[in-house]
Amino acid sequence: MKLHTKIVLGLALGAAAGVSANVVAPDAGWVRWLGDNVANPVGQIFLRMLLMTVVPLVFASITLGVAGLGDIRKVGRVGGRTLGYFLFSSALSAILGLTLVNVVRPGAGLGGALRDQLMATYRTQAQGLQAGGAAGFGPDLFVNIVPRNPIAAAANMDMLGLIFFAIVFGAALTLIPEDRARPMLRLLEALGDAIVKVIDIAMKLAPIGVFGLIFVVTSRFGWQILFQLLKYVLVVVGGLAIYAAVGLSILVRVFGGVRPGVFWRKAWTSLVTGFSTSSSNATLPTNIAVAEKEFAIPPKIAGFVLPLGATMNMNGTALYEGVTVLFLAQVFGLGLTLPQQAFVIVLSVITAIGAAGVPGGSLPLIMVVLASVGAPPESIAIILGVDRILDMCRTSLNVTGDLTAACYIARTEAGWDPASASRANGEGVPQAA
Ligand code: ASP
Repeated sequence: MKLHTKIVLGLALGAAAGVSANVVAPDAGWVRWLGDNVANPVGQIFLRMLLMTVVPLVFASITLGVAGLGDIRKVGRVGGRTLGYFLFSSALSAILGLTLVNVVRPGAGLGGALRDQLMATYRTQAQGLQAGGAAGFGPDLFVNIVPRNPIAAAANMDMLGLIFFAIVFGAALTLIPEDRARPMLRLLEALGDAIVKVIDIAMKLAPIGVFGLIFVVTSRFGWQILFQLLKYVLVVVGGLAIYAAVGLSILVRVFGGVRPGVFWRKAWTSLVTGFSTSSSNATLPTNIAVAEKEFAIPPKIAGFVLPLGATMNMNGTALYEGVTVLFLAQVFGLGLTLPQQAFVIVLSVITAIGAAGVPGGSLPLIMVVLASVGAPPESIAIILGVDRILDMCRTSLNVTGDLTAACYIARTEAGWDPASASRANGEGVPQAA
């Protein structure tokens, strides 16, 4: 059986086991014990195996990508095009989300009693988010991208800082004599190769890791809340599904030249990994392997676009933010005017760029957006109970959106032939193991 199939099986079995445990024995001690002592540790080990590769992978692949692009002007052009695509696709998905909330109006019927009950239950969690949350908008947002110390940036998983340093470092390598740069490039190539092997090993754990992660979420999930917030959940999930089936499919066809059927078949492992980890960062290693082996995208492009995308390109999150802010505004009876809604779209796109690619990474930023349209930031408490499930869904889109960007940039900047994706057999990708 292919690893690919085993991962999906792990996901399905884990979800079935978790839901059954939740239904048959809600709040039972043994279910919690199983989660705490078996399922969660197994899932966390898998997650950490992936995460431990992220810093060296991002550094090696971005530096090599930039150095491989050659001169600085080309780096600037490719970077500009990449960023332009990120903004465009995120704006599209945020607009779709906002349109849906306006049509369905999921927040209109949410009565005061339920609202207060949810606020009371999740208030402490929301306060915790706010305490550790974002500082708001201002020049510091840009200043902070430049790290004081690249090692500290790496140690703190400050991805934007690490990426910034890697871009400058890679560009510098093209500016010194070639014979001086070569040893460093060879070292980074070897580092990259070895890290890919580590990812291979980590992915062998994926089927049981994924089982553990999903078991923990589903066995503890408050299904009641899901039904109470059903309309909101359906708008988010429906919006994400429409954006994937229509938006991303059209984008990858028009910009990347890849047939949607081929794209989704090949992107499947990334989608499932994004779904089960809820983290773009943790999915990055898989995403790079999938781009190179399944789509035959040149490593210098995959290594440049995908790490940027994991941090900055979050289509699913942009849609989610737009829907959530408007939903909560509806719950509090704030009718947002059209210009205010346009403002929400802009903020959703910007904050989706700033959100960290970790589970719940966008929540502190949503609070900032809520405040800027006059809704109480702590009202995020209302949706915290269902957030994890929605996080899984939006992260799947975040990571597949990155793949569409890689197809587009490879085609326009590296002469990549989309037909080579159909010919690539995925050999060497974790899933072929
Ligand atoms: N979990 C998301 C990601 O890693 C970020 C978020 O929307 O919370 O892509």
